[in-house]
Amino acid sequence: MTEKELLSVVQDYGSPVYVYDSSVMERQYKRLINAFRDVKQLRIHYAVKALSNISALKFLHSLGAGMDTVSIQEVRLALEAGVPAGHIIYTPNGVSMAEIEKAASLGVRINIDNLSVLEQFGTQHPDIPVCIRINPHVMAGGNTNISVGHIDSKFGISIHQLPHIKRIVDNTGMHINGIHMHTGSDILDIDVFLYASEILFKAAGEFDSLEFIDFGSGFKVPYKDGDIETNVEELGKKLSERFNDFCSSYGRELTLAFEPGKFLVSESGKFLVSVNVVKQTTSTVFAQVDSGFNHLIRPMLYGAKHHISNISNPSGRERFYTVTGYICETDTFANNRRISEIREGDILAFHNAGAYCFTMSSNYNSRYRPAEVLWHNGKSHLIREREKFEDLTKNQKVLEF
Ligand SMILES: *Cc1c(COP(=O)(O)O)cnc(C)c1O
Repeated sequence: MTEKELLSVVQDYGSPVYVYDSSVMERQYKRLINAFRDVKQLRIHYAVKALSNISALKFLHSLGAGMDTVSIQEVRLALEAGVPAGHIIYTPNGVSMAEIEKAASLGVRINIDNLSVLEQFGTQHPDIPVCIRINPHVMAGGNTNISVGHIDSKFGISIHQLPHIKRIVDNTGMHINGIHMHTGSDILDIDVFLYASEILFKAAGEFDSLEFIDFGSGFKVPYKDGDIETNVEELGKKLSERFNDFCSSYGRELTLAFEPGKFLVSESGKFLVSVNVVKQTTSTVFAQVDSGFNHLIRPMLYGAKHHISNISNPSGRERFYTVTGYICETDTFANNRRISEIREGDILAFHNAGAYCFTMSSNYNSRYRPAEVLWHNGKSHLIREREKFEDLTKNQKVLEF
Protein backbone atom coordinates (compact mmCIF):
# COMPACT_ATOMS: atom_id res chain seq x y z
CA MET A 1 0.00 0.00 0.00
CA THR A 2 1.20 3.51 -0.73
CA GLU A 3 1.57 6.19 1.93
CA LYS A 4 -1.41 7.97 0.44
CA GLU A 5 -3.58 4.85 0.72
CA LEU A 6 -2.47 4.30 4.31
CA LEU A 7 -3.31 7.90 5.21
CA SER A 8 -6.74 7.48 3.64
CA VAL A 9 -7.39 4.58 6.01
CA VAL A 10 -6.69 6.84 9.01
CA GLN A 11 -8.87 9.52 7.49
CA ASP A 12 -11.76 7.10 7.07
CA TYR A 13 -11.51 5.08 10.28
CA GLY A 14 -9.43 7.16 12.69
CA SER A 15 -6.36 6.12 14.64
CA PRO A 16 -5.02 3.89 15.98
CA VAL A 17 -5.95 1.37 13.32
CA TYR A 18 -4.65 -1.92 11.99
CA VAL A 19 -4.73 -2.39 8.23
CA TYR A 20 -3.97 -5.64 6.38
CA ASP A 21 -3.22 -5.86 2.68
CA SER A 22 -4.80 -9.02 1.28
CA SER A 23 -2.48 -9.02 -1.74
CA VAL A 24 0.51 -9.53 0.57
CA MET A 25 -1.17 -12.52 2.25
CA GLU A 26 -1.88 -13.93 -1.21
CA ARG A 27 1.71 -13.39 -2.36
CA GLN A 28 3.04 -15.24 0.69
CA TYR A 29 0.54 -18.07 0.37
CA LYS A 30 1.42 -18.56 -3.29
CA ARG A 31 5.12 -18.49 -2.52
CA LEU A 32 4.70 -21.39 -0.15
CA ILE A 33 2.48 -23.37 -2.52
CA ASN A 34 4.94 -22.80 -5.32
CA ALA A 35 7.95 -23.78 -3.19
CA PHE A 36 6.33 -27.17 -2.47
CA ARG A 37 4.83 -27.75 -5.91
CA ASP A 38 6.66 -31.08 -6.27
CA VAL A 39 4.67 -32.59 -3.41
CA LYS A 40 1.48 -34.28 -4.62
CA GLN A 41 -0.64 -33.53 -1.58
CA LEU A 42 0.12 -30.30 0.25
CA ARG A 43 -1.95 -28.67 2.94
CA ILE A 44 -1.33 -25.25 4.49
CA HIS A 45 -3.09 -24.76 7.80
CA TYR A 46 -2.94 -21.09 8.70
CA ALA A 47 -2.18 -20.53 12.42
CA VAL A 48 -5.25 -18.62 13.53
CA LYS A 49 -3.63 -17.16 16.63
CA ALA A 50 -1.45 -14.85 14.53
CA LEU A 51 -4.45 -12.88 13.23
CA SER A 52 -7.87 -14.22 14.02
CA ASN A 53 -10.23 -11.75 12.38
CA ILE A 54 -12.90 -13.81 10.61
CA SER A 55 -12.53 -11.86 7.35
CA ALA A 56 -8.81 -12.64 7.30
CA LEU A 57 -9.61 -16.32 7.91
CA LYS A 58 -12.16 -16.26 5.10
CA PHE A 59 -9.71 -14.64 2.74
CA LEU A 60 -6.97 -17.18 3.49
CA HIS A 61 -9.48 -20.00 3.16
CA SER A 62 -10.56 -18.63 -0.23
CA LEU A 63 -6.94 -19.13 -1.34
CA GLY A 64 -7.13 -22.76 -0.21
CA ALA A 65 -5.77 -22.64 3.33
CA GLY A 66 -7.07 -24.80 6.17
CA MET A 67 -6.69 -23.60 9.76
CA ASP A 68 -4.46 -24.49 12.68
CA THR A 69 -6.13 -23.74 16.00
CA VAL A 70 -5.00 -23.82 19.62
CA SER A 71 -8.27 -23.30 21.48
CA ILE A 72 -11.87 -24.32 21.12
CA GLN A 73 -12.70 -20.67 20.48
CA GLU A 74 -10.30 -20.58 17.53
CA VAL A 75 -11.95 -23.74 16.23
CA ARG A 76 -15.28 -21.95 16.38
CA LEU A 77 -13.88 -18.87 14.62
CA ALA A 78 -12.54 -21.09 11.83
CA LEU A 79 -15.92 -22.83 11.47
CA GLU A 80 -17.59 -19.41 11.49
CA ALA A 81 -15.31 -18.45 8.60
CA GLY A 82 -16.71 -21.39 6.64
CA VAL A 83 -13.69 -23.67 6.86
CA PRO A 84 -14.82 -27.32 6.81
CA ALA A 85 -14.04 -29.19 10.05
CA GLY A 86 -11.82 -31.64 8.14
CA HIS A 87 -9.53 -28.76 7.19
CA ILE A 88 -9.11 -27.56 10.76
CA ILE A 89 -6.44 -29.00 12.97
CA TYR A 90 -6.62 -28.45 16.70
CA THR A 91 -3.22 -28.37 18.41
CA PRO A 92 -3.74 -27.41 22.03
CA ASN A 93 -1.26 -27.50 24.85
CA GLY A 94 -2.22 -28.15 28.42
CA VAL A 95 -5.98 -27.94 27.87
CA SER A 96 -8.56 -30.14 29.55
CA MET A 97 -9.74 -33.48 28.19
CA ALA A 98 -13.24 -31.97 28.07
CA GLU A 99 -12.13 -29.27 25.62
CA ILE A 100 -10.40 -31.83 23.40
CA GLU A 101 -13.57 -33.93 23.36
CA LYS A 102 -15.57 -30.84 22.42
CA ALA A 103 -13.24 -30.19 19.48
CA ALA A 104 -13.45 -33.85 18.45
CA SER A 105 -17.25 -33.66 18.53
CA LEU A 106 -17.07 -30.75 16.07
CA GLY A 107 -15.20 -33.04 13.69
CA VAL A 108 -11.85 -31.25 13.57
CA ARG A 109 -8.53 -33.06 13.46
CA ILE A 110 -7.05 -33.60 16.89
CA ASN A 111 -3.40 -33.23 17.68
CA ILE A 112 -2.30 -34.57 21.07
CA ASP A 113 0.87 -33.45 22.75
CA ASN A 114 1.11 -35.40 26.01
CA LEU A 115 1.00 -39.03 27.07
CA SER A 116 -1.62 -38.57 29.76
CA VAL A 117 -4.26 -37.18 27.40
CA LEU A 118 -3.22 -39.61 24.66
CA GLU A 119 -4.01 -42.52 26.97
CA GLN A 120 -7.29 -41.03 28.23
CA PHE A 121 -8.42 -40.10 24.75
CA GLY A 122 -7.43 -43.44 23.25
CA THR A 123 -9.23 -45.32 26.01
CA GLN A 124 -12.45 -43.38 25.66
CA HIS A 125 -12.49 -42.73 21.91
CA PRO A 126 -10.45 -45.46 20.22
CA ASP A 127 -12.43 -44.85 17.03
CA ILE A 128 -11.43 -41.17 16.62
CA PRO A 129 -8.07 -40.87 14.83
CA VAL A 130 -5.51 -38.49 16.30
CA CYS A 131 -2.24 -36.92 15.31
CA ILE A 132 0.72 -36.92 17.68
CA ARG A 133 2.86 -33.88 18.37
CA ILE A 134 6.48 -34.92 18.73
CA ASN A 135 9.19 -32.85 20.31
CA PRO A 136 12.32 -33.69 18.29
CA HIS A 137 14.53 -31.71 20.70
CA VAL A 138 16.20 -29.86 17.91
CA MET A 139 16.69 -26.14 18.07
CA ALA A 140 16.27 -24.74 14.61
CA GLY A 141 17.62 -21.24 14.72
CA GLY A 142 20.03 -19.09 16.59
CA ASN A 143 22.95 -21.43 16.62
CA THR A 144 24.61 -22.55 13.43
CA ASN A 145 25.39 -25.89 15.06
CA ILE A 146 22.71 -28.49 15.30
CA SER A 147 21.99 -28.38 18.96
CA VAL A 148 19.83 -30.69 20.94
CA GLY A 149 17.85 -28.36 23.07
CA HIS A 150 14.47 -27.52 24.43
CA ILE A 151 14.61 -30.63 26.57
CA ASP A 152 12.49 -28.70 29.07
CA SER A 153 9.99 -27.39 26.52
CA LYS A 154 6.40 -27.94 27.54
CA PHE A 155 5.38 -28.68 23.95
CA GLY A 156 5.07 -32.09 22.37
CA ILE A 157 5.86 -35.63 23.42
CA SER A 158 9.57 -36.29 23.54
CA ILE A 159 10.90 -38.35 20.66
CA HIS A 160 12.59 -40.42 23.36
CA GLN A 161 9.16 -41.45 24.60
CA LEU A 162 8.21 -43.13 21.34
CA PRO A 163 8.07 -46.55 23.05
CA HIS A 164 5.48 -45.17 25.50
CA ILE A 165 3.40 -43.80 22.66
CA LYS A 166 3.47 -47.15 20.90
CA ARG A 167 2.44 -48.95 24.07
CA ILE A 168 -0.55 -46.64 24.55
CA VAL A 169 -1.57 -47.01 20.92
CA ASP A 170 -1.36 -50.82 21.12
CA ASN A 171 -3.21 -51.00 24.43
CA THR A 172 -6.08 -48.74 23.42
CA GLY A 173 -6.37 -49.77 19.78
CA MET A 174 -6.48 -46.09 18.79
CA HIS A 175 -5.60 -44.91 15.30
CA ILE A 176 -2.75 -42.48 14.64
CA ASN A 177 -3.35 -40.55 11.41
CA GLY A 178 -0.59 -37.96 11.59
CA ILE A 179 2.76 -37.01 13.04
CA HIS A 180 3.48 -33.40 13.87
CA MET A 181 6.22 -31.12 15.12
CA HIS A 182 6.39 -27.41 15.76
CA THR A 183 9.61 -26.36 17.37
CA GLY A 184 8.54 -22.77 17.81
CA SER A 185 11.92 -21.50 16.70
CA ASP A 186 12.76 -19.60 13.58
CA ILE A 187 14.11 -21.59 10.67
CA LEU A 188 17.35 -19.79 10.01
CA ASP A 189 19.28 -22.80 8.90
CA ILE A 190 17.51 -25.13 6.51
CA ASP A 191 19.85 -28.01 7.29
CA VAL A 192 18.83 -27.86 10.94
CA PHE A 193 15.19 -28.03 9.92
CA LEU A 194 15.89 -30.96 7.62
CA TYR A 195 17.71 -32.68 10.47
CA ALA A 196 14.62 -32.30 12.68
CA SER A 197 12.51 -33.61 9.80
CA GLU A 198 14.58 -36.78 9.71
CA ILE A 199 13.64 -37.40 13.32
CA LEU A 200 10.01 -36.94 12.36
CA PHE A 201 10.31 -39.36 9.43
CA LYS A 202 11.82 -41.91 11.76
CA ALA A 203 8.89 -41.52 14.15
CA ALA A 204 6.46 -41.68 11.21
CA GLY A 205 7.93 -45.00 10.13
CA GLU A 206 6.69 -46.48 13.41
CA PHE A 207 3.01 -46.04 12.48
CA ASP A 208 1.54 -47.91 9.57
CA SER A 209 -1.58 -45.99 8.61
CA LEU A 210 -0.63 -42.33 8.59
CA GLU A 211 -2.36 -39.85 6.34
CA PHE A 212 -0.17 -36.81 6.89
CA ILE A 213 3.02 -35.42 8.35
CA ASP A 214 2.82 -31.89 9.70
CA PHE A 215 6.06 -29.93 9.89
CA GLY A 216 4.65 -27.04 11.90
CA SER A 217 6.03 -23.62 11.20
CA GLY A 218 9.04 -21.52 12.07
CA PHE A 219 9.14 -19.59 8.79
CA LYS A 220 10.93 -16.38 9.53
CA VAL A 221 10.13 -13.10 7.83
CA PRO A 222 12.32 -9.98 7.98
CA TYR A 223 11.29 -7.32 10.50
CA LYS A 224 14.19 -4.96 10.08
CA ASP A 225 17.06 -4.33 7.68
CA GLY A 226 19.55 -7.16 7.71
CA ASP A 227 17.13 -9.74 9.11
CA ILE A 228 17.42 -13.21 7.66
CA GLU A 229 14.35 -14.59 5.96
CA THR A 230 13.67 -18.31 5.68
CA ASN A 231 14.56 -19.39 2.18
CA VAL A 232 11.28 -21.22 1.54
CA GLU A 233 12.20 -21.94 -2.05
CA GLU A 234 15.32 -23.85 -1.01
CA LEU A 235 13.48 -25.54 1.86
CA GLY A 236 10.68 -26.50 -0.52
CA LYS A 237 13.03 -28.06 -2.99
CA LYS A 238 14.98 -30.08 -0.44
CA LEU A 239 12.14 -31.13 1.83
CA SER A 240 9.82 -32.03 -1.08
CA GLU A 241 12.41 -34.35 -2.53
CA ARG A 242 13.02 -36.01 0.81
CA PHE A 243 9.30 -36.21 1.54
CA ASN A 244 8.57 -37.88 -1.78
CA ASP A 245 11.32 -40.41 -1.09
CA PHE A 246 9.84 -41.10 2.31
CA CYS A 247 6.39 -41.68 0.78
CA SER A 248 7.79 -44.23 -1.66
CA SER A 249 9.48 -46.14 1.11
CA TYR A 250 6.40 -45.83 3.30
CA GLY A 251 4.36 -47.27 0.45
CA ARG A 252 1.68 -44.63 0.46
CA GLU A 253 1.16 -41.05 -0.70
CA LEU A 254 0.97 -38.86 2.41
CA THR A 255 -0.05 -35.24 2.78
CA LEU A 256 2.66 -32.79 3.70
CA ALA A 257 1.26 -30.13 6.02
CA PHE A 258 2.54 -26.82 7.37
CA GLU A 259 0.97 -24.36 9.75
CA PRO A 260 2.48 -20.94 9.23
CA GLY A 261 1.14 -17.85 10.95
CA LYS A 262 3.73 -15.11 10.76
CA PHE A 263 4.86 -16.02 7.24
CA LEU A 264 1.39 -15.55 5.79
CA VAL A 265 0.22 -12.41 7.57
CA SER A 266 3.04 -10.52 9.31
CA GLU A 267 4.10 -8.39 6.36
CA SER A 268 0.52 -7.72 5.26
CA GLY A 269 -0.16 -5.61 8.34
CA LYS A 270 0.56 -2.02 9.27
CA PHE A 271 -0.40 -0.43 12.56
CA LEU A 272 -1.14 3.26 12.11
CA VAL A 273 -0.93 5.66 15.05
CA SER A 274 -1.00 9.44 15.54
CA VAL A 275 1.71 11.40 17.26
CA ASN A 276 0.20 13.23 20.24
CA VAL A 277 3.29 14.88 21.66
CA VAL A 278 6.87 15.49 20.60
CA LYS A 279 8.85 15.94 23.80
CA GLN A 280 12.44 17.03 23.96
CA THR A 281 14.26 15.92 27.11
CA THR A 282 17.88 16.27 28.10
CA SER A 283 18.71 12.87 26.64
CA THR A 284 16.39 12.20 23.71
CA VAL A 285 13.39 13.32 21.74
CA PHE A 286 10.25 11.37 22.55
CA ALA A 287 7.50 10.90 20.01
CA GLN A 288 4.43 9.88 21.98
CA VAL A 289 1.73 8.13 20.03
CA ASP A 290 -1.91 7.30 20.73
CA SER A 291 -1.16 3.67 21.58
CA GLY A 292 0.95 1.52 23.87
CA PHE A 293 1.53 -2.11 24.75
CA ASN A 294 -2.22 -2.39 25.10
CA HIS A 295 -2.29 -2.43 21.27
CA LEU A 296 1.14 -3.68 20.25
CA ILE A 297 3.09 -5.60 22.87
CA ARG A 298 5.70 -7.42 20.81
CA PRO A 299 8.44 -4.78 21.25
CA MET A 300 8.06 -4.89 25.03
CA LEU A 301 7.37 -8.62 25.35
CA TYR A 302 9.95 -10.00 22.94
CA GLY A 303 12.15 -7.03 22.16
CA ALA A 304 10.74 -7.27 18.62
CA LYS A 305 11.95 -4.52 16.31
CA HIS A 306 9.10 -3.26 14.16
CA HIS A 307 10.24 -0.85 11.49
CA ILE A 308 8.53 2.54 11.95
CA SER A 309 7.99 5.06 9.19
CA ASN A 310 6.51 8.54 9.27
CA ILE A 311 3.98 8.34 6.46
CA SER A 312 2.96 11.98 6.92
CA ASN A 313 6.47 13.17 6.17
CA PRO A 314 8.23 10.36 4.29
CA SER A 315 10.88 12.54 2.71
CA GLY A 316 11.57 14.61 5.82
CA ARG A 317 15.05 14.85 7.23
CA GLU A 318 15.90 11.82 9.39
CA ARG A 319 16.35 12.39 13.11
CA PHE A 320 16.59 10.17 16.15
CA TYR A 321 13.47 9.50 18.17
CA THR A 322 12.39 7.35 21.06
CA VAL A 323 8.87 6.27 20.23
CA THR A 324 6.65 5.64 23.24
CA GLY A 325 2.96 5.28 23.89
CA TYR A 326 0.39 7.10 25.98
CA ILE A 327 -0.30 4.55 28.70
CA CYS A 328 0.89 4.88 32.28
CA GLU A 329 3.58 2.21 32.10
CA THR A 330 6.91 2.00 30.42
CA ASP A 331 5.84 1.39 26.86
CA THR A 332 8.80 2.04 24.60
CA PHE A 333 8.26 0.94 21.02
CA ALA A 334 11.68 2.03 19.81
CA ASN A 335 14.78 3.59 21.29
CA ASN A 336 16.74 6.25 19.42
CA ARG A 337 15.38 5.19 16.05
CA ARG A 338 16.12 7.16 12.86
CA ILE A 339 12.80 8.32 11.49
CA SER A 340 12.01 11.17 9.12
CA GLU A 341 11.21 14.31 11.07
CA ILE A 342 8.18 13.86 13.29
CA ARG A 343 5.71 16.65 14.00
CA GLU A 344 2.74 16.49 16.33
CA GLY A 345 -0.23 15.10 14.42
CA ASP A 346 1.88 13.01 12.05
CA ILE A 347 0.85 9.43 11.34
CA LEU A 348 3.43 6.72 12.01
CA ALA A 349 3.23 3.23 10.55
CA PHE A 350 4.54 0.18 12.38
CA HIS A 351 5.47 -2.45 9.80
CA ASN A 352 5.04 -6.24 10.15
CA ALA A 353 1.92 -5.65 12.20
CA GLY A 354 -0.15 -8.51 10.79
CA ALA A 355 0.92 -11.31 13.14
CA TYR A 356 0.61 -11.40 16.93
CA CYS A 357 -0.28 -7.74 17.15
CA PHE A 358 -4.04 -7.16 17.29
CA THR A 359 -4.56 -10.67 18.71
CA MET A 360 -2.36 -9.79 21.70
CA SER A 361 -4.04 -6.46 22.38
CA SER A 362 -5.83 -5.62 25.61
CA ASN A 363 -7.86 -2.92 27.34
CA TYR A 364 -5.12 -1.86 29.74
CA ASN A 365 -5.65 1.72 30.93
CA SER A 366 -9.27 1.19 29.86
CA ARG A 367 -8.39 2.09 26.30
CA TYR A 368 -10.33 0.68 23.37
CA ARG A 369 -8.89 -1.95 21.11
CA PRO A 370 -8.27 -0.45 17.64
CA ALA A 371 -10.31 -0.91 14.51
CA GLU A 372 -9.15 -3.40 11.86
CA VAL A 373 -9.32 -2.77 8.14
CA LEU A 374 -8.70 -5.09 5.20
CA TRP A 375 -7.27 -3.51 2.07
CA HIS A 376 -8.63 -5.62 -0.75
CA ASN A 377 -8.71 -4.94 -4.50
CA GLY A 378 -7.59 -1.36 -4.00
CA LYS A 379 -10.27 -0.51 -1.44
CA SER A 380 -10.52 -0.40 2.33
CA HIS A 381 -13.06 -2.51 4.19
CA LEU A 382 -13.75 -2.17 7.88
CA ILE A 383 -13.50 -5.68 9.38
CA ARG A 384 -13.70 -4.76 13.06
CA GLU A 385 -15.03 -1.60 14.63
CA ARG A 386 -13.04 0.26 17.20
CA GLU A 387 -14.34 -0.62 20.64
CA LYS A 388 -16.69 1.71 22.48
CA PHE A 389 -17.22 2.57 26.13
CA GLU A 390 -19.97 -0.06 26.37
CA ASP A 391 -17.41 -2.74 25.47
CA LEU A 392 -15.55 -1.89 28.67
CA THR A 393 -18.60 -2.19 30.87
CA LYS A 394 -20.79 -4.79 29.19
CA ASN A 395 -19.81 -7.84 31.29
CA GLN A 396 -19.57 -6.04 34.59
CA LYS A 397 -22.11 -6.60 37.36
CA VAL A 398 -22.21 -3.29 39.16
CA LEU A 399 -22.84 -3.40 42.89
CA GLU A 400 -24.61 -0.62 44.73
CA PHE A 401 -23.24 0.77 48.00
C1 LIG B 1 1.90 -20.50 16.86
C2 LIG B 1 1.91 -21.79 16.16
C3 LIG B 1 2.19 -21.83 14.79
C4 LIG B 1 2.55 -20.61 13.96
O1 LIG B 1 3.84 -20.12 14.20
P1 LIG B 1 4.42 -18.91 13.33
O2 LIG B 1 5.75 -18.64 13.90
O3 LIG B 1 3.49 -17.76 13.46
O4 LIG B 1 4.47 -19.35 11.92
C5 LIG B 1 2.14 -23.06 14.18
N1 LIG B 1 1.83 -24.19 14.87
C6 LIG B 1 1.55 -24.17 16.18
C7 LIG B 1 1.19 -25.43 16.87
C8 LIG B 1 1.58 -22.98 16.87
O5 LIG B 1 1.31 -22.98 18.18
